[in-house]
Amino acid sequence: GWLEGYAALITGGGSGIGRAVAERFLAEGASVTVLGRDRSRLEEVVDCAADRSRIHTVTGDVRDSDTLHTAVQETVDRFGKLDTLVANAGVWDYQRQLTRLTADELDTAFDEVFSVNVKGYLLAAEAAWRELVKTRGSIVMTLSNASFYVNGGGPLYTASKHACLGLMRELAYELAPKVRVNGVACGGMNTDLRGPRSLSLADRSIAASFARRGPDTPPPPIPLHDSSTDPRDFTGPYVLLASRAQSGPVTGHAINADGGIGVRGFAHAAGGDHL
Ligand code: NAD
Repeated sequence: GWLEGYAALITGGGSGIGRAVAERFLAEGASVTVLGRDRSRLEEVVDCAADRSRIHTVTGDVRDSDTLHTAVQETVDRFGKLDTLVANAGVWDYQRQLTRLTADELDTAFDEVFSVNVKGYLLAAEAAWRELVKTRGSIVMTLSNASFYVNGGGPLYTASKHACLGLMRELAYELAPKVRVNGVACGGMNTDLRGPRSLSLADRSIAASFARRGPDTPPPPIPLHDSSTDPRDFTGPYVLLASRAQSGPVTGHAINADGGIGVRGFAHAAGGDHL
């Protein structure tokens, strides 16, 4: 495996891309601590692991610094070190536009979305950097198409994911040369991504939107419009960026894994549909 002997901590690893990355890292030879809010989901990840000696779970909220410090400490106690932090736990705003939000909703939902999506990454980095310095390790952040482009969320989500891009770049500067900091800007994935509780969207899952797609649903307007939405197919860049051997000189960089939004055409999203 590419990550033989690595020890990683993944936030929001009970489902979606976090879980897919946890399983991929295990398959690549790493030991993995998975942090999430829902204990039963974490147990499911453990139950599916072929080698249980290489997986550890911590239940808690990424808005709580103590939980993150505990997760780092338990990773070091159990696996001897920390090589990779995958900052990943997040919530979506279901593209709720400014004109559909009241001032009160904005006030509370801003705090919720930014505290999970942005503060959660920052607190995880704070808890982990000392151990990452020791191993010359790295941070890989789950970014989004919404870190670069509009309309992948409403103003709350888009601003939060742009903020994560800035955080990634700032920390890449501050932690160099010992710790690399990079991101994977994922496009649409069929996960269990939820919305903020403050907008009563905590029980809504993005999976429902994927389930509603039928044969008549137009493909997403991106060049790779028939590409997979299975989060497992987005894990390659995480392995690449975590691996010192594969990306030793890479820091402050986001890999866009979004089906090519940046090379969309005007009349047709893809120029090669006739091929
Ligand atoms: P998901 O809901 O399946 O996974 C997120 C996990 O984080 C869940 O297990 C959830 O319980 C956990 N979590 C949420 N808030 C938490 C908190 N406060 N404390 C601890 N754990 C918490 O959704 P996902 O799509 O896999 O989301 C992971 C990341 O991917 C997010 O940062 C999201 O913004 C990003 N992303 C998702 C998509 C997509 O289309 N699904 C696209 C681009 C980026």
